[in-house]
Amino acid sequence: MSEKEDCIFCQIAKKKIKVEIVYESDNFLAFPDKNPKVEGHTLIIPKKHFVNLIDMPADLGSELLDVIKRIFEIKKYQGFNLIMNNGDVAGQLVMHAHLHFFPRKKGDGIHSLPT
Ligand code: 5GP
Ligand code: ZN
Repeated sequence: MSEKEDCIFCQIAKKKIKVEIVYESDNFLAFPDKNPKVEGHTLIIPKKHFVNLIDMPADLGSELLDVIKRIFEIKKYQGFNLIMNNGDVAGQLVMHAHLHFFPRKKGDGIHSLPT
């Protein structure tokens, strides 16, 4: 399914809702989480509607890895954590696949990253 009418992330991916674009590739869009848990907290989403990782075709994997690396390089972050909640039992609230990208820096005092 490429777009789901009532899906907020589909609307962001289709640019019907304006967001600051952190990075964009053919199949992915990265933008700030509206409720950042740490400075620079970014969401990476496939532009097509997939529910979560299990729903995503594996051939998007290498482009996704590239997007992650590009964000790290462009923003000149020291490090980062990635979290992906897959399924409501895992804390997934928005049912359009997304990775949480948490920039890290020395002495940032972050010891746990609940999402
Ligand atoms: P999860 O589904 O992994 O629990 O988290 C969903 C994340 O999406 C949350 O961190 C929440 O702040 C973020 N979020 C939900 N709706 C929007 C939105 O409309 N815009 C943006 N930028 N982030 C959103
Ligand atoms: Zn969607």
